[in-house]
Amino acid sequence: ALQENLGAAFKTLRGQGKLTEGNMRDGLKLVEKALLEADVSYEVVRTFMKRVGEQALGEKVLGSLRPNEQVIGIVYQELVNLMGPVDHSLHLKGKGDVTVLMMCGLQGSGKTTTCGKLGKMLKANGRRPLLVAADLQRPAAIDQLHVLGEQLDIPVFSDRTTQDPVKVTANAVERAKKLEADVVILDTAGRLHIDSELMDQLKRIDQRCHPDQIYLVVDGMTGQDAVNSAKAFNEALELDGVIMTKLDGDARGGAAISVKEVTGVPLKFMGTGEHLENLEPFHPERMAGRILGQGDMMSLVEKAQQEFDQDEAKRLEEQLAKGEFTLDDFLKQMQQIKRLGPMKKVLGMIPGMGSMLGDLDELDAEGDLRRLQGIIHSMTLNERRKPKTIDQSRRRRIAAGAGVEPSAVNDLVKQFDTIAPIMTAMAGKGMGDRMKMMKQ
Ligand code: GDP
Ligand code: MG
Repeated sequence: ALQENLGAAFKTLRGQGKLTEGNMRDGLKLVEKALLEADVSYEVVRTFMKRVGEQALGEKVLGSLRPNEQVIGIVYQELVNLMGPVDHSLHLKGKGDVTVLMMCGLQGSGKTTTCGKLGKMLKANGRRPLLVAADLQRPAAIDQLHVLGEQLDIPVFSDRTTQDPVKVTANAVERAKKLEADVVILDTAGRLHIDSELMDQLKRIDQRCHPDQIYLVVDGMTGQDAVNSAKAFNEALELDGVIMTKLDGDARGGAAISVKEVTGVPLKFMGTGEHLENLEPFHPERMAGRILGQGDMMSLVEKAQQEFDQDEAKRLEEQLAKGEFTLDDFLKQMQQIKRLGPMKKVLGMIPGMGSMLGDLDELDAEGDLRRLQGIIHSMTLNERRKPKTIDQSRRRRIAAGAGVEPSAVNDLVKQFDTIAPIMTAMAGKGMGDRMKMMKQ
């Protein structure tokens, strides 16, 4: 994967005692190779490497004390520059006015799902969305939107008596006020491939309804194709933003890197799962961090803020401030983190955890947590508070109690040692403040 390849590239750079122009070039070649393998478009890689190379081979870097770290910094900053800046606003009009958002994209890209996700988000923000079934290509498409609407308790406008999506959207926009809606979300039709008939239809909707914002939904797993479709749609419609879906799973990330550079249109949001809450603002810094495998503490904290039990967080914060982070807290922490979503996805955001988890799959991670719990429950209260006191004989006793190998107890204590300083550092500023700070 891109992360691993870049990791290898940086390792090569790090491994050099003294960086020379020669071995710097070797390291950069590996960076280039990693990007190409991740399906970043050739043009983008070329300009990117030119920018990075000019800076990395400059005297300031080669002459500096830690040239390798500076190179990573340059790669990071250039990745951020490639993907940003991003404007996350949906540019909604004031209360009483109707804003029209038009969603388009190829079939299967995730349009309908994303309409639902946006509706949910808007509703949570006190808006009154209206979903419009303007995909008349497949009869099931209308049903799908109605199911989403029911699930979210959001009204859906559809008209099964016509084959003309322009008419449907025009009627929907006209009726929006009567339906007391202030944001109209148009779910338009897609095709398997870009064709002129589809583009004409979308253009006609655009001309008739004058949507305030047009967003393209692309499937992040399709790599280069996602970028090409963004280019084609943007030429026909002048997009205001791109929403990239399916950035959960093993998406190679290359498409996210290229879209803005190729089309000039920024990624606004990303879909990170099939569930309706899996829509997140796209942050170039976080994506760059993720690509470089630095972990993504900020996303984790933001998620945590939404879903952590507030009281528990406060209690933990107090404990941490007193420097009393115990194995019991660790277990609670792991259990809470588990509630946040697929274990591996969330844990992967903690620096250092990604590699620690290795190739565990979801089920194993769940089993791991149960095993963890078994081990911790086999400890005395004092051992949980002061894991350092666990010597060989205690380790053997705990392992026997939990039905695991003594080495598993050892691993757990090591994991704890990794997490505790992170947690304590976070508490240093007060978890609440810290979260607020990161949200800005
Ligand atoms: P449409 O044809 O463009 O309307 O696409 P749909 O909204 O029907 O989505 C197609 C498939 O992609 C469905 O199975 C969705 O559940 C799935 N999907 C949509 N967004 C995401 C996402 O962010 N992550 C994942 N894993 N699946 C998604
Ligand atoms: Mg659809």
